[in-house]
Amino acid sequence: MSEINTFEAAQSGRPTGPLVRGYEVIIGFETHAQLSTASKIFSRASTAFGAEPNTQACAVDLALPGTLPVMNKGAVERAIRLGLALGSHIAPRSVFARKNYFYPDLPKGYQISQFEIPVVQGGSVSFFLGDEKKTVRLVRAHLEEDAGKSLHEDFIGQSGIDLNRAGTPLLEIVTEPDMRSTAEAVAYARELHKIVTWIGICDGNMQEGSFRCDANVSVRKPGSPLGTRREIKNLNSFKFMQQAIDYEIRWQIEEIEEGRQIQQATVLFDPDTGETRAMRTKEDAADYRYFPDPDLPPLAIAAEWIERVRAEMPELPRAMAERYVQQHGLSEYDATQLTQSPALASYFDAAVSAGAAPKLASNWITGEIARRLNQQDIAITDAPVTAAQLAKLIQRISDDTISNNAARTVFDTLWTGESQDVDAVIEAKGLKQMSDSGALEKIIDGVLATNQKNIDEYRAGKDKAFNALVGQVMKASQGKANPAQVNALLKAKLG
Ligand code: ADP
Ligand code: MG
Repeated sequence: MSEINTFEAAQSGRPTGPLVRGYEVIIGFETHAQLSTASKIFSRASTAFGAEPNTQACAVDLALPGTLPVMNKGAVERAIRLGLALGSHIAPRSVFARKNYFYPDLPKGYQISQFEIPVVQGGSVSFFLGDEKKTVRLVRAHLEEDAGKSLHEDFIGQSGIDLNRAGTPLLEIVTEPDMRSTAEAVAYARELHKIVTWIGICDGNMQEGSFRCDANVSVRKPGSPLGTRREIKNLNSFKFMQQAIDYEIRWQIEEIEEGRQIQQATVLFDPDTGETRAMRTKEDAADYRYFPDPDLPPLAIAAEWIERVRAEMPELPRAMAERYVQQHGLSEYDATQLTQSPALASYFDAAVSAGAAPKLASNWITGEIARRLNQQDIAITDAPVTAAQLAKLIQRISDDTISNNAARTVFDTLWTGESQDVDAVIEAKGLKQMSDSGALEKIIDGVLATNQKNIDEYRAGKDKAFNALVGQVMKASQGKANPAQVNALLKAKLG
């Protein structure tokens, strides 16, 4: 439908991306986000994943004669949320259309979708690729129903049809061909995934197929018209996405370099071989004989409905990250890390409200805590150290009660559940930093008295010798001296 739009878009003077063997890469995405409604888009059957085949397909999903679709309001509301999150126009009136094709898992013989007038129009997704801010424009997002599934039971040599998935609500989110590298495409997909889960319209479970991407890829010499694209279907992991697009780019360039032409096609990625393979030549919109579905009235969305949904929208990750940069002086990178999920961001917020220095809280959360969560494969909501405990720990670093090293010991004790109380651990393990400068001076004098060689070397300009002295003092204090204080006192004494 948007052949002309997208052609103009790609010609509109966007900067040339990084070249691969002298070719510019052009990528556009079509993403299917399964909407997290309890029931289907046009029937009351459950959408829960993993049920016995055909136990969640009602008469409407089975396309029994005489049944009629009834629009699920929750699906529309989720489309509105996406439109608001991405700055799109939300059509006050959009139209459902029949997309006609024959396939065993589609008993009606057509899929109900939106064609000429989609519910969500325009908008964009912005994200950082390294230090560079990228904006990918959306063409549209439209509501549609999913099809069933063909199950091939190799061991009995038969295929069956499971219609549980038939009628599951989907939002198909289509971009302009704005992406210029694999890395940018994957970053876009990650950002979109973050947004749909953040605003609660999709559970984002890629393994179960709740979020799957089709990547349209073409290459051209810079300045040439757009090349012919091939569409890699159903990418359901970020890793496969990256491998598939990289392979496809190399393959297309190879074909062109060898004097062959790219045929527009739909291809599948095979994770076992790491290759993409043509599935069928691509259909044109005309092949589907789209026409407005006479069973469904146009979808009308009143301005008041949009305003009600707007009032319930959470702060979005990008806005939140920008606020962290402004308010707490965090780096763009750290702010982005902290806004990976609402749960992670609220953990950070809670630690800061409980008195943690924001930069230290950010360092602990994106460092030590992220590492442990990763290692144990658990979510931040299941972290054994609460935000309040982290805040307490950080306060004890900030007020010089303990060193960073000692803090790690305390943290470990909290994480393993040995103790819940920061101050009690510091006390019990004798981790208090030496704060009495008199006691520290005594230790320093002792070290200086027995290390004349280091003193001479330091005076001769060797930095290493100074570090050796600091090390000696730290050792003599059993790690309880404050390294900054040791540095200052030593420097003073050595003149
Ligand atoms: P269709 O509806 O026939 O699949 P569209 O024109 O709507 O085709 O485009 C589908 C997707 O392909 C969009 O995401 C668009 O950005 C992308 N696309 C279009 N032309 C190209 C191209 N030459 N190279 C890469 N992607 C493209
Ligand atoms: Mg398409």
